[in-house]
Amino acid sequence: MLTVEVGGSSVQALLVSEGEPPREVRLEEHRDLPWLVAAPGLVEGDRVRGAHHLGWMDVCISRELGMPSPPALSMNDAEAAGTGEWLLLGQPSGTTVYVGIGTGVGAVGIRDGEVVAVEFGHRTSYGDKVCGGCGRRGCLDAQIGGHALPTPLRADEAELVSTSVVDALRGQEIAIDRVVLGGGLLRAYPEIVGAVEAAADLEVVGSRCAPEYKSAAYLGLLAAYGSISA
Ligand SMILES: [Zn+2]
Repeated sequence: MLTVEVGGSSVQALLVSEGEPPREVRLEEHRDLPWLVAAPGLVEGDRVRGAHHLGWMDVCISRELGMPSPPALSMNDAEAAGTGEWLLLGQPSGTTVYVGIGTGVGAVGIRDGEVVAVEFGHRTSYGDKVCGGCGRRGCLDAQIGGHALPTPLRADEAELVSTSVVDALRGQEIAIDRVVLGGGLLRAYPEIVGAVEAAADLEVVGSRCAPEYKSAAYLGLLAAYGSISA
């Protein structure tokens, strides 16, 4: 089986074999295998809508990826990665909020293994830039998504990310027991995780995902599919 994670900067395919850690493979060499996919946006079956960083406003996933058959299971990327991080934490009780910042900003709550929607990446009042997804000025995604920031980050830009994340966490209406910060940008700048933890009055941890994987989405996909017990 394959897991496929589609992101703004790259697509990662992992070959999952019993008794072995998943390993990265070239998707085009394994198109005949059953596959599970995580992608940004509204993901339903073989369709993705509103993944504006990919330009996937309403597309057929298998066609975009050149796969001959639809995925056996599909999930939003933050939901898959959040579920995977919750598994890596040992399935803690209460509500775990996963915030992933890569090309874009995604977040999700996980309570007892179930996904709880949170309003996060498209909250407004964070600056002047206009979001290419929701169209609103000041949307969080448009200010601190990796697409909006230079590489490498300057100290003031890293601070903007941490203060914005803290503010968006404080604005949540659900009770939060812990926060996991992941995604390419936050994994590249662990000091942002430390800054959020220092300011947020919450238990805040960095991603537990092994560095060779784009995110823990592969674990969330496998759990949802029933290939591993959750
Ligand atoms: Zn937006």
